[in-house]
Amino acid sequence: MDTSRRGFLKAAGAAALGVGGGAPLVLMSARGSTGGGEVSSSGIRWALAIDTQKCAEGSGCTACVEACRDVHNIPLIENVEEEVKWIWKEPLQKVFPHRVLSETGEEIRERPLPVMCNHCDNPPCVRVCPTKATWKRDDGIVMMDQHRCIGCRYCVVGCPYGARSFNWSDPRPYIDKIRADYPTRTKGVVEKCTFCAERLAGGQLPACVEACQKVGGAMVFGDLNDEHSEIRQLVRANLVAQRKAELGTRPKVHYKL
Ligand code: SF4
Repeated sequence: MDTSRRGFLKAAGAAALGVGGGAPLVLMSARGSTGGGEVSSSGIRWALAIDTQKCAEGSGCTACVEACRDVHNIPLIENVEEEVKWIWKEPLQKVFPHRVLSETGEEIRERPLPVMCNHCDNPPCVRVCPTKATWKRDDGIVMMDQHRCIGCRYCVVGCPYGARSFNWSDPRPYIDKIRADYPTRTKGVVEKCTFCAERLAGGQLPACVEACQKVGGAMVFGDLNDEHSEIRQLVRANLVAQRKAELGTRPKVHYKL
C-alpha cells in the first residue's frame, strides 16, 4: 500500500468516526495552515485535484463519469434541459475562459476537463437554501438532503458552476440498472456530487477517483489540511487553478493546467 493511500485511509477513518460518532474528532496529527484554508474541528478538509494533461492523455475517457453514474443511480436523460449530472466533461476554454489566449492552440482549447460540485468553502448554494436541505459538513463536503428539498431551485440559481441538477420528472425510468445500495431520487428535488460521502465513510475513495486511478491517475483526492497528503503536496508543488475563484467561493476542486 503506498503512503498516499495509507494517509487517505487514515483520514477517511477519522472522518467516519467524527461524522458517525456525534462529536467531531479532533485530529492531533501534523496539520498546518494551507494559506486560505480552513481549520475545522475534525481537522479534515477534503479536496480533489485533477492533472489536466494526464486527463487529456486518455482522450475520450469517461471512466470518472461512468463510475459516478453507476454508483449513484444517476439517470441518463438525453434532453439537455432536463439532464441530471454529478460529474461531466467540458472543454478547457469553457471551464477556464480567462486562461485561453487568442494564440492558444485548438488542442488545448478543446481539452475536455471533468467538472462537478466544487464543495466550496464559501458555498452560495448553502446560503440561499430556505430549508437547510443543503449544508456544509465540518470536513468541507457540501451535502444535500433530498427529503428536506422543496424544489425551489434557489441553489441551482445560486451555484455559479451549474453543478446542481433538478429532477423534472421521475428519474427511475432513465436509470439503466438500479442499484439497491444507493437511493434513487424523486421528481421535484435537486441533486449533485457529494464527494462520495457514503464511500468515504467506509474508507473508500470517491468512485470517480478510484476509476481514474485505474486508467490514467489524473485525479488525486485527500485531506488538504494534512501537509503530508498527496493532494497537499500536489497543490504546493504546482500552480493550480480553481474555477471562478474570483467570486470568493473558495472551490476545493483544483486543476493543474
Ligand atoms: Fe454549492 Fe455550486 Fe459550490 Fe457546489 S459548486 S458547493 S453546488 S456553489
